[in-house]
Amino acid sequence: MKDLLTRRCGLTDGWFREISEMWPGQAMTLRVKKVLHHEKSKYQDVLIFESTNHGNVLVLDNVIQCTERDEFSYQEMITHLAMNSHPNPKKVLVIGGGDGGVLREVVKHECVEEATLCDIDEAVIRLSKQYLPHMAAGFNHPKVKVHVGDGFKFLDDYKNTFDVIITDSSDPEGPAESLFQKPYFQLLHDALREGGVITTQGSENQWLHLPLITKLKKDCGEIFPVAEYAYTTIPTYPSGQIGFMVCCKDANRNVRVPVRSWSKEEERKLCRYYNSEIHKASFVLPTFAQEALQ
Ligand code: SAM
Repeated sequence: MKDLLTRRCGLTDGWFREISEMWPGQAMTLRVKKVLHHEKSKYQDVLIFESTNHGNVLVLDNVIQCTERDEFSYQEMITHLAMNSHPNPKKVLVIGGGDGGVLREVVKHECVEEATLCDIDEAVIRLSKQYLPHMAAGFNHPKVKVHVGDGFKFLDDYKNTFDVIITDSSDPEGPAESLFQKPYFQLLHDALREGGVITTQGSENQWLHLPLITKLKKDCGEIFPVAEYAYTTIPTYPSGQIGFMVCCKDANRNVRVPVRSWSKEEERKLCRYYNSEIHKASFVLPTFAQEALQ
């Protein structure tokens, strides 16, 4: 019985294997030092383990969500690409993001007056506070409010409210499915104030998911006057890369260039991956991806 359970959550012989049809024929494998927690929440299978070389790791439905070693490249990029594409973001919403890492990045911007997070699963928030304290630090900030519920339903109640909305969701298979579809982008658009900006976890990467990215870009482009694709590198996501859609309600905004930036000194103090050069570079795609996304 125990064997069956461990195999189901990707654990065999002291290794975690991330096997999924979303990345056929390949699988990230991490060496496990100790399983810290495993439960079936109301929405998903939640596994947290200590790895030998990547710190603590959060896995939902057998998919790696974040590791303490490389999470900063994702959290910083999905956050600051949006935040630094807005001249004065005061009200910020995070959909998903139950590990707290995006919130941690949002509140680095002093102009923020209120940052709200809406994650569907209280278990992710509870367990991140316990096992991923460096990410969950975001929850302790006085400007932060937390709502447990479905992001799609939550957004439906807000019109013309937020300056920036960041969708830090899990992959499209499971509770996050609706967060990758066109009606969701319309809700995001309508919940933004004038000049508002969104970033979303943009369906994995150019090596595996070009048709999905192409559809996402098309859907976003039909709703927002500005819809651009950017990406970051991250060793523990499939093929070492993950993309974001960055969209703006203002047709004259160029999100490829930050409208605000920190001094070099502040940048080095605040961030380990993001800087104003990498903001611009993250929109530059290799030829095969450029051609597909045209
Ligand atoms: N960075 C990670 C990635 O790209 O794989 C995502 C991390 S974050 C932990 C993903 C969160 O999205 C989870 O906590 C999950 O509970 C939440 N989530 C999934 N579907 C959701 C929905 N419909 N509404 C709100 N949150 C959702």
